Amino acid sequence: QATPSSWAKTQNSLAEVKDDLERVVNLDHGDPTMYEHYWENMGERTTIVIRGWQSMSYFSDIKNICWFLEPELAKQVVRLHKVVRNAETEGRHIVVGTGSSQLFLAALFALSPKEATEPISVVSAAPYYSSYPTMTDYQKSALHKWAGDSRIFNQMGPYIELVTSPNNPDGFIRHSCVNRSGGAIIHDLAYYWPQYTPMTFPADNDLSLFTVSKSTGHAGMRIGWALVKDPEVAKKMTKFIELNTIGVSKDSQLRAAKVLEVVADSCVQSGGSEFRESFFEFSYRLMAERWQQLRETVNNSNGIFSLPEFSPAFCQFHGRDLEPQPAFAWLRCRDDIEDCESYLRGFKILTRGGKHFGASTKYVRVSMLDRDENFRVFLKRLSAIR
Ligand code: PMP
Repeated sequence: QATPSSWAKTQNSLAEVKDDLERVVNLDHGDPTMYEHYWENMGERTTIVIRGWQSMSYFSDIKNICWFLEPELAKQVVRLHKVVRNAETEGRHIVVGTGSSQLFLAALFALSPKEATEPISVVSAAPYYSSYPTMTDYQKSALHKWAGDSRIFNQMGPYIELVTSPNNPDGFIRHSCVNRSGGAIIHDLAYYWPQYTPMTFPADNDLSLFTVSKSTGHAGMRIGWALVKDPEVAKKMTKFIELNTIGVSKDSQLRAAKVLEVVADSCVQSGGSEFRESFFEFSYRLMAERWQQLRETVNNSNGIFSLPEFSPAFCQFHGRDLEPQPAFAWLRCRDDIEDCESYLRGFKILTRGGKHFGASTKYVRVSMLDRDENFRVFLKRLSAIR
């Protein structure tokens, strides 16, 4: 028999079903909101207080090449790389940026010859991160120009190659693929963290870019860092940021330093007497769950969808063989579906189509980093497509 409370429950679940059916699931951007839960549970551990008279000067460390780098952030960056074992920091200069996006532009500026008659070619293997072409060309710089897929690049002369590893959008580990000397490489390691891929070796490159956006999920803090071997390159990158924004928000740097410290602490303390899951165990587990659910759904799609397959490798951080579980799913539609992005839009699922990445429209990139609720509705919607 219906009671007021059972009636209210039915109404609520009807409202939920209606919401599930009507909601537009936007998985176009890689907004890392899935990490909010972890940080909420960490409570006040990452809280810092900045008083009105603090962080006022432009300068942070005038003896450092990167004079606006907060020493505490530099310390925590080095510590976290040591704990995670994902990058060599010895003999590197750290340059901080407003996200790794600013550092990408700073690196292009630093690596482009200033006296050349022609802009230097900038290439990356397709499918490449969709922002590279526009970021390289939007100011119509005389210094550099986008020259497309590095796998088919055959022009003579100097070039800059962008190597994103694991790759955005498809999640594979990448190496340089222009098969000649005379090039400079920017390694974009935004996703070289233990929740996404096994930590097989510490990256030992001339110029690597990292960001809190994808490592801890604090995209809104807008903090990234570059590890740079050549002091002259570090100086030019610093000059670019000086001309661009006269440094990087100290408030954000201090907040980032605190978050990185808490992440490193969580790794060192996990498994101890007072057991607490480390940030990377938590995020690894969540990504593993999501990938398992997505693979199940795709396997039941009667061949409409398919996903890339990855080989396991030994992870130095987790201490066992693990499979990659990228931040994005590079989803392929069956051959008779020409445009996977519009096909999914028909089911109110927003993704980014392959053409943005220099690839076929049969592919879309789907963010795996959204909130639980959005991901749940995405799976439900996908499993209803037959
Ligand atoms: N590089 C890659 C490969 C990315 O996916 C992103 C973020 N989508 C960035 C750089 C930019 O990150 P940030 O927020 O640090 O500017």
